[in-house]
Amino acid sequence: MSRLKNKTALVTGASRGIGRGIALRLAQDGAVVAVNYASNEAAAKETVSLIEEAGGRAFTVHARLGEPGAVEQLLAGVEAGLAERTGSGNLDILVNNAAATGFEGAGPSAVTEAIIDNCYTINAKAPFFLIQKALELIPDGGHIVNVSSGVTHSAFPIQIAYAMSKAALEQITLHMAPVLAARNITINTVAPGITDNGDPVFDDPAAVEQMSALSAFKRVGEVSEVADVVAFAASDDARWVTGSFIDATGGTLIG
Ligand code: NDP
Repeated sequence: MSRLKNKTALVTGASRGIGRGIALRLAQDGAVVAVNYASNEAAAKETVSLIEEAGGRAFTVHARLGEPGAVEQLLAGVEAGLAERTGSGNLDILVNNAAATGFEGAGPSAVTEAIIDNCYTINAKAPFFLIQKALELIPDGGHIVNVSSGVTHSAFPIQIAYAMSKAALEQITLHMAPVLAARNITINTVAPGITDNGDPVFDDPAAVEQMSALSAFKRVGEVSEVADVVAFAASDDARWVTGSFIDATGGTLIG
């Protein structure tokens, strides 16, 4: 527990799934972690309890990204929570993990403007403005990680709206990198493949077999396997890596 000693982090969507895994890993590395959630307060509190039981420090912050004022609400909660615990509102690490997901079935002919708006609002617009405004709290040498998806590099027509919005998120990584480099802040994309986030679909052996076939390792990923990659990108070990797309798909994209 030392790589992130004296560091602080915000993980959006950290009540469940991959976000919880990232929060646990960053806290294990020593960071004080702000655990954001949209509606599931009990799950967010459970993330904090798991961190505390392991000897780490964390607190919850409610904000439904995409709603008016959510970014400001989130950052005010983060700044206050960090100040209370560390004496400063400095935020060393921002992980944009929360996302609108679950549009399987909405293939090109079924996509509506509402679906597109929802995907872009939560998956691209919210992270953009969160980065823009969080920069007031992020000191020089900080790290930003955007959690995208392998679906931007492999065709899944039933996820077209989601994929379009994740591609927009990746453009934030690319185009913000030179701007942030002036302050030695890195920004990178980590793209998971299919990862067991605790959704009931992962209890269905037939579905898991189908999903497993996509990875070179012929299995689905664990949240800890994505969290380990994010932890690297969020650490000073990655100080010479910026603007990059880090493939954490278990070889799904190698064909
Ligand atoms: P889950 O559906 O398991 O968890 C989503 C998390 O995001 C929850 O904590 C939820 O909070 C939060 N959330 C959802 N909407 C909002 C919002 N508007 N504002 C704030 N928080 C919100 O997601 P996963 O763990 O599966 O996915 C995490 C990331 O990984 C996403 O960016 C996803 O696109 C990406 N990804 C996931 C893959 C997978 O196979 N699991 C594959 C490729 C990419 P609450 O509990 O309060 O609802």
